[in-house]
Amino acid sequence: MEYRFLSKKEIASFVTGLLKDFKVYGPVKKDGFSLYAEIASPKDLNLLHTPTHLSPKQYLFPPKETLLTFKNGENPAMEPVVEANNQVLFGVHPCDIHAIRLLDRVFSYGPSDVNYIKRREKTLIAGIDCIPDKYCFCKSVNTMNVDSGFDIFLHPLRGLNRKNNRTTNQLDNLDRQTFNWGHDMNAGFLVEIGTQRGKDLLHKYTKTRKATAKEIKKIAEFKDKKAELFAASINVEASSLPLIYSGSYNSPVWEKVGKICYGCGSCNNVCPTCYCFDVRDNIQANLTEGERYRVWDACLLEDFAKVAGGHNFRKTRAERLRHRFNRKFQYQVDKFGGLFCVGCGRCNRTCLVNINIVEVTNELIEESNKRS
Ligand code: SF4
Ligand code: SF4
Repeated sequence: MEYRFLSKKEIASFVTGLLKDFKVYGPVKKDGFSLYAEIASPKDLNLLHTPTHLSPKQYLFPPKETLLTFKNGENPAMEPVVEANNQVLFGVHPCDIHAIRLLDRVFSYGPSDVNYIKRREKTLIAGIDCIPDKYCFCKSVNTMNVDSGFDIFLHPLRGLNRKNNRTTNQLDNLDRQTFNWGHDMNAGFLVEIGTQRGKDLLHKYTKTRKATAKEIKKIAEFKDKKAELFAASINVEASSLPLIYSGSYNSPVWEKVGKICYGCGSCNNVCPTCYCFDVRDNIQANLTEGERYRVWDACLLEDFAKVAGGHNFRKTRAERLRHRFNRKFQYQVDKFGGLFCVGCGRCNRTCLVNINIVEVTNELIEESNKRS
C-alpha cells in the first residue's frame, strides 16, 4: 500500500484540476440533506458527509437512459446509444464502493452490459472513510473497510472524538449519533493509492508528500474507533445469513411485515445494489421514429412480477418483501459469490413504515435459534 499526505488546500487544488478534465460528482448538502450531485467547485463538496439519500450508482446506472433510437419508413434504421463521459465519483464511502464492485460483477455477467461497462471504464473513484449513523450496519456484512475498487481513498488523519452535542456540520437532522470526526479539515487526509491512474492524477493536479509511519498508524486507530460506533447490527456472522434465510421461507415474519408494507418500492430505489430495470419504447406521434430506454424497476412494486394473462408470481407484499430480502442475503450469494446488502442502511432510513432489514433479519435469526 502506498499512502500520501494531502492537505486541505491541496484537496481543493486536486478537485479544481479534476474539474478541468472530468465531470465530478460528490457529496453536497442541499436543503439539509446529504446527496450526490455534480459539483462546479471544491467548495461545493461536503466531504465529511453522512450517508447520501441515493448512492453514486446513479452515475453508472442512471435511473433512466436511452439504449437505442430507431426509425421506420423507407430507410429503417436502429442506432445504439451509449453515453459515457470521463467522470469522477468523489467522496464515495466504503459500503458504496463495495456496492459498485457487486454491480461490476452483475453487469459483466453473461453478455456484458455495454452501457454500464463503458461508463465504468471512464469513471474514477475517490473514496473516503466515514462514521456510521444509527442505521449503518456495514460492519455486520463485512463492508466497513475496503481495500480495492477505488483509484484513491481518503483517510481522515485525526481519528474520532466523542461529543455530547450536535453542533458540528456533519451531524444532520437525521438523528445522528453523538460522535464527530474530531477533524477540522486543516489536518488533511492520507491518500491511499488504489491504481496507477489515481496516482498519476494525484501527481498531475496536486502536491503530496510521503505519509509518515505515525500518520499511517492513525488509519488503524480510526478504524478501531469506528468499529465501536455501530448502533445497528445483525446478530450472526455474515457467512451464516444464506442458511438463515433459506430456512426462513415460511416464517410468519413475512406476513407480519407484508401487512404494513405499502409496496412503494422506495427501498429498491435507494439501494446501491438493486439493479433491476424495465425496458420501454417511446414512439413519436408520427410513428416513424422513437427510442428504447430503460428505467429502474423495483421488485416491491405490484406489477414487477406480473406476466401476460395477468398472472403474478409474487402477488402479495409479503412475498415481494421475502423475495427482496432473499436477493440480498441468499439468492445472489449463490450466483455472484457475495451478499448483496452492503449495510448502507438506506432502505431503513427511507421506509415510511419503518420496515428495517436489520430488525427483520434478527427476528429470523431468533426464530431459527428457537427451531434448532
Ligand atoms: S418496505 Fe418500506 S420502502 Fe419498501 S416497499 Fe414496503 S413500505 Fe415501501
Ligand atoms: S438492502 Fe438496504 S441496507 Fe442493504 S444495501 Fe440495499 S439499501 Fe443498503
